[in-house]
Amino acid sequence: MQRQGAPPRSRAFGNSQAERQVTGRQRVSVAVAGAGHTGLAAALAFAERLGATASVAVYDPALTGPPAPDPRHFALTPASRRLLQRIGVWDGLGAVQPIVRMEITDSRLADPVRPTLLAFGASGSQDAPEDDAAEDGEPLAHMAGSDTLRAALRRRAAEARIALVPRAVTGRAPEGGFALDDGAIIRPDLIVVADGARSRLREALGVGWVSRPFGQHGIVATIAHERDHGGVAVQHFLPSGPFAILPLPPGGRLGHRSSIVWSERSDAVEGLSHADEADILREIGRRFGHRLGAIALETPVRPYPLAAGIARRFAGADFALVGDTAHVVHPIAGQGLNLGLGDVECLVREVAGAVRLGLEPADGEALRSYERARRPHTLGMGLAMAGLNGLFSNDAGPLRLARDIGMGIVDRAPRLKAALMRRASGVG
Ligand SMILES: Cc1cc2nc3c(=O)[nH]c(=O)nc-3n(C[C@H](O)[C@H](O)[C@H](O)COP(=O)(O)OP(=O)(O)OC[C@H]3O[C@@H](n4cnc5c(N)ncnc54)[C@H](O)[C@@H]3O)c2cc1C
Repeated sequence: MQRQGAPPRSRAFGNSQAERQVTGRQRVSVAVAGAGHTGLAAALAFAERLGATASVAVYDPALTGPPAPDPRHFALTPASRRLLQRIGVWDGLGAVQPIVRMEITDSRLADPVRPTLLAFGASGSQDAPEDDAAEDGEPLAHMAGSDTLRAALRRRAAEARIALVPRAVTGRAPEGGFALDDGAIIRPDLIVVADGARSRLREALGVGWVSRPFGQHGIVATIAHERDHGGVAVQHFLPSGPFAILPLPPGGRLGHRSSIVWSERSDAVEGLSHADEADILREIGRRFGHRLGAIALETPVRPYPLAAGIARRFAGADFALVGDTAHVVHPIAGQGLNLGLGDVECLVREVAGAVRLGLEPADGEALRSYERARRPHTLGMGLAMAGLNGLFSNDAGPLRLARDIGMGIVDRAPRLKAALMRRASGVG
């Protein structure tokens, strides 16, 4: 069946300055494979940047119904927030919790007090370095629920009249274009591949994938607690993996809530599936500490297998990979989705630049520039996250001493700390 040559025109962003600048070409068709957070953000960003000249469609078999519930909450960097604001999604998120301070510790669980090894403050606060790239007084990040974010992206895509097609893109069609799982063929100018870490489309397009499991799972849950967290996030490095406490807006049965990402050796996670709630809560309590008072489980715990991976190429003649399809990193610094949104920002800028010059949207130089900008950046971030995880998932005495000295140096070196913060805020 031959269905369409190009996706229908999308509307809704009006005549932005960016749109008015795209004058070289009458019509650009972009197809996005995957309606995850990254794919939907890419569709909206193309529609916003290219305006009335663009036809944008998103394909995903999961679009037949509401997305499966996901208990994760994401720490969105200032760079991600700006993108979400520009594409009209931010206000749809409702209450988001600012993170005003991040504390890092590697105390042992039995230690009666847990001294902070390193602390980052919001820009403009006492701890903030002067050249921090976040705007003055801006929080380090904002916490948003995965489900809330996806719902806001979907709502906005429908408002922008982006076609949401409940079909999988399976690969190239022998007669040209790309095949859908119902036999239809689409012929977009550019296809954005955003079908996730286990992407079949990436494989069908012949793009290699290098990956390494961490032998850890990230266990996610929402924890209710008695005392206010004050917008402070805590990263507690333990030998079995980092334990993150991320502040959420007030609510829940004890008045306050935080999200945890508890990285644990995969063999130990097996046992958790047989444990009862009281045992699980006791284990969480040992790691969570007493600073926020009594705690309770607000949601069941959900384990996610953790791995690092990167695609051998980020772009081809008529396609570009974004988000988890292009790279997967350890959630140690909450950067996976932020990296994906950074891909979107960069890809849309390069493609719109080519279109403005009257070139094809899938112009080779534009896609190569995208790959040149994003692949080394992502590789660096992935290696840094894996390195941090390896450095801290270890209790050997000399290593512990060396890293404690290292962190102490960083804490007292404003420029180095500022560089780390810029990187973590997605603008470095
Ligand atoms: C425990 C944990 C905590 C995390 N915390 C953070 C955090 O704090 N901050 C952060 O930035 N990141 C975080 N991440 C990373 C983040 O979750 C991911 O980077 C992000 O969800 C990836 O989104 P995506 O849209 O790229 O891929 P996915 O969410 O995997 O979406 C892929 C979509 O493609 C669809 N699809 C599949 N096959 C096809 C096909 N053939 N055709 C069309 N569609 C298809 C699927 O149905 C799916 O909807 C965390 C990850 C974990 C595991």
